Amino acid sequence: MYKLSKIIIKNSALIVVLLIAFVFSIGAFYQDKLYNENKEVIAIQNKSFIDNKIYEYTSDDSADGNAQSKENINTAINRQNLVYTSYENDLYADNAKDVENMLNKWNYLREDGKKVAYLTFDDGPSTEVTQQILETLKVNNVKATFFVLGSNVEKSNIQKELLKEMVMEGHAIGNHGYCHDYSILYPGRVANPTVLVNDMKKSEDVMRSVLGDGFSTSVIRLPGGHMSWNTKALDPVLEKNGYTYIDWNTLNGDAESNDRTVEQLVNRLKGSIRDLAGNDDVLIILMHDTNAKKATAQSLQEIIDYLKSLGYEFRTLK
Ligand SMILES: [Zn+2]
Repeated sequence: MYKLSKIIIKNSALIVVLLIAFVFSIGAFYQDKLYNENKEVIAIQNKSFIDNKIYEYTSDDSADGNAQSKENINTAINRQNLVYTSYENDLYADNAKDVENMLNKWNYLREDGKKVAYLTFDDGPSTEVTQQILETLKVNNVKATFFVLGSNVEKSNIQKELLKEMVMEGHAIGNHGYCHDYSILYPGRVANPTVLVNDMKKSEDVMRSVLGDGFSTSVIRLPGGHMSWNTKALDPVLEKNGYTYIDWNTLNGDAESNDRTVEQLVNRLKGSIRDLAGNDDVLIILMHDTNAKKATAQSLQEIIDYLKSLGYEFRTLK
């Protein structure tokens, strides 16, 4: 009798151990299943997000592959690391080359029914205006393209920090050169290729000294605009150096006077969009963020609201 009960006790212990093991393995199985299901849901969400993002001007077979890496790289983690993502890896950026081609052909129509506005700000960063522009963009979760002057970046620590903030906030950085002196860059209104390329490189070097060795940008805006000068000798040199130049097709007119009111700037932009007479799926909007352009910063919210009311989304140029 004693022997029998001993066997039962011994086996009960074994049964209990087996039961515990069974319960644990069931738990692990369901946890695993739940995890995988969650992963699948996230993957599907990501994919539809990316599918929405992929609407390049030309169809791209490798879009899905790119999309995965875009999703991985365009994360908040990069904000802390000051990583300037390339066009391929930036969810908010479009290929500036496509926009350059559009500007050269004066054709701003898209075939996908979308309307895209590229807000561009030249001549900064400045101590009194750039910060307000960055804040308005942030509140609206709108990304813009800043055509930065290397000489302004160099001026103070505040301006260096502003350049960093542009990158951390996911904006695109274009190069507006260093000296911004028409008589040096375009003597007799003819662009000097060597001087101009060296000026762009000097500006990029300044930006690199602030943003780190990994930074580079091939998107430039010529001071005064490419359209304003004889660029016959310059164009092949720009191409050889891999530059993409971006002019504009609309503006708020802040370069025309420092005394413009908010209302005047908004109306000037509305007028310049009307002037496109429906050839307006893509807007490249010229504005400035120097200290003298406080009204530009003050008008930005109204401009964003107006463009949204017309159905535009905001993207950047890289
Ligand atoms: Zn300028």
